[in-house]
Amino acid sequence: MATILSAQSTDARVNLVTPALFERYPNAKALARATTADLERQIVSTGFFRQKSRSLLGMAHQLVAEHGGEVPADMELLTALPGVGRKTANVVLGHALGMPGLPVDRHVLRVSNRIGIASGDDPGKVEAQLCRALPQEMWTLASDVQILHGRRICKPKPLCPRCSVRKDCEYYQRNAPAKAGPHERKAGPRKKQVRGGRL
Ligand code: SF4
Repeated sequence: MATILSAQSTDARVNLVTPALFERYPNAKALARATTADLERQIVSTGFFRQKSRSLLGMAHQLVAEHGGEVPADMELLTALPGVGRKTANVVLGHALGMPGLPVDRHVLRVSNRIGIASGDDPGKVEAQLCRALPQEMWTLASDVQILHGRRICKPKPLCPRCSVRKDCEYYQRNAPAKAGPHERKAGPRKKQVRGGRL
């Protein structure tokens, strides 16, 4: 529920409504019995509440009808639920079900492209690249770390001087100020265009 509510919203807003929601609807069966008006009223502050309400009710009905009210630990079955894309499914797999899952959001896209550990702006392709490069037990942590790094340091306007991975970052190596010392800047041509510059 929280992951669906988080679309186009903030953690703070979602965290304000989820305690009451979880208490009122502790499982899929309870949620499936909710009325649209009731649910919309409770999630209105998270934005896009009509669409989110449709997704939540549709998901709850499908979980009850097809999975006995349980959340399936399977990417294909999860993404067949209303309102659940790969990012949401990976969050559920990695954080709720203890399965390998690497959610790719805009922060992971930006950070991985800039550092040079992935290439492209298609979340599915970047997810596949990162999953190939990392052991499964690191997938969820790798996503969490990049999300936090993207929020705090590698913002759209990156705070490179404060970044602890700048020596290993392709973006930094290509854009470091000329005064940066050799310990901070690798030698070599600067022909290649910055991959993550537009993200
Ligand atoms: S050095 Fe700059 S561009 Fe590279 S990861 Fe750090 S903040 Fe982002």
